[in-house]
Amino acid sequence: MSKALSIYIHYPFCKSKCPYCDFNSHVRDSVEYDKFLQAYERELQFFAEKIDPRQVSTIFFGGGTPSLMPEFLVAGILQKIAQLWQVDENCEITLEANPTSSESAKFQALRQIGVNRLSLGIQALNDQDLKFLGREHSSAEAIKTIENAAKIFDNFSFDLIYARPQQTIQSWREELSRAINFNTKHLSLYQLTIEKGTKFYSQFSRKEFVMPSEELAAEFYEVTNQITSDAGLELYEVSNYAKKSFESRHNLVYWQGGDYLGIGAGAHSRVYFAEENMRSAITLLHDPMSWLNQVKQSGAAIQKIEKIMPRELCEELILMGLRLRDGISEELFLHHFNKKFDDIFDQNALNKIQSQGLIIQENGMIKIPTNQRLLTNAIIEKVCLALK
Ligand code: SF4
Repeated sequence: MSKALSIYIHYPFCKSKCPYCDFNSHVRDSVEYDKFLQAYERELQFFAEKIDPRQVSTIFFGGGTPSLMPEFLVAGILQKIAQLWQVDENCEITLEANPTSSESAKFQALRQIGVNRLSLGIQALNDQDLKFLGREHSSAEAIKTIENAAKIFDNFSFDLIYARPQQTIQSWREELSRAINFNTKHLSLYQLTIEKGTKFYSQFSRKEFVMPSEELAAEFYEVTNQITSDAGLELYEVSNYAKKSFESRHNLVYWQGGDYLGIGAGAHSRVYFAEENMRSAITLLHDPMSWLNQVKQSGAAIQKIEKIMPRELCEELILMGLRLRDGISEELFLHHFNKKFDDIFDQNALNKIQSQGLIIQENGMIKIPTNQRLLTNAIIEKVCLALK
C-alpha cells in the first residue's frame, strides 16, 4: 500500500455565484478567518491521528475561491500540515485563483508561503462571454493576471469554458490560440454544461438561450484537441492538456485511484484508516457554518463514512482511470486487490468491447482510443459491465 497522501482543502466562499456553477460555493459579506483557521487545523489534526502515517505529496486549495483567503490562513494550514505529516520536498501545492487585480496582488506572497502552482479560473478571453458567464473579471484583467502569474510561477494552469451559446468554431479557434500564446504549460478546457439547480438551468429551461447541438459540441472538442496537440499540449484527461511533466499531479491522484484527504465543508476523502485494510470514503458536512460548528464540537464535521466494497472500488477505478489518455493499469488492481485483469474482468466481454473499437488493451493497460473520447461515459459503463 502506497504511503503517499494528497490533501485537498476546500474554501467554500466566492465574491458572487456564477450562473453555471454547481460547486459548494457560497457568497458571504464577511468570513471569520480566525475561526476558519482553527477549524481547518482541528480537522487536519483529527484525521492525522486516525489515518495511516503518510507522506504528503500534493496539496490543493480548491473552492469556492481560495485566492480570497488571506495569506495567513493559507500559511497557517500549510504549517499545520507540515507539523502533522512529512511533506515531500517537491510537494506540489496548488491554489485556485480568480483573475481580479486584488487576488493577483497576492501571488508573490502566496509563492513565498510555499504555493508553487496556480490554477486560474479565466473561463473566457472576451468581455461579452465573461459577462454571460457571470464572471467578476474583464478579459484585460484576465490577461494581466496570466502575465503576472507567469512571472511568479513556473507552473500554472488556466481554465476556459467553451461550446458557449452563439460561440462559433472560428471564434473559439482564435480564442484558444490566444490562450496558448501565453506559453502556458497546462490548460483545463471544459465544455459548458447546464447543471440542475443553477441559474443557467432555469434560464435554459425558459429558453432564454440555446446551447450548441451535439454535433457542434463534438466539432468544438475535435478542434480543441487539434489546436492543443499542434501546440504540444497533450490531452492527458478528457478536459486536461499539458506539456510533458506539467500534468496536475494532484488531480492524477484522483484519476489513478490514489489516497486523498479532503478537509473543509463538503470535502470528500478516500483513505485507509490505521490498521484497516479496506478503503473508506468520507464526506464532510456541506454547509460552511454547520461544518465550522461541528468541527468545533467534535474535531471533524463528518456527514458519512463508508467502507468501499471491492466491486464498488473496481467501478471507481474504472470510472476515474478511463478518463485518462493512458487508461487503467493492471498494476492498480494488483495494488488494491492483488488480482490481475483476468481475475477482475470477463475477458470475452472485454474483447467484444475491443472489437467494436471502443477500448485498446495493451501492455497491461486498458484505454479509450482518442477518436472515441466523446463516448467516454458510455464506454465506462460497458467496461463496468465486463467486471466478473
Ligand atoms: S468562482 Fe468558481 S466556485 Fe465560485 S461561483 Fe464561480 S465557478 Fe463557482
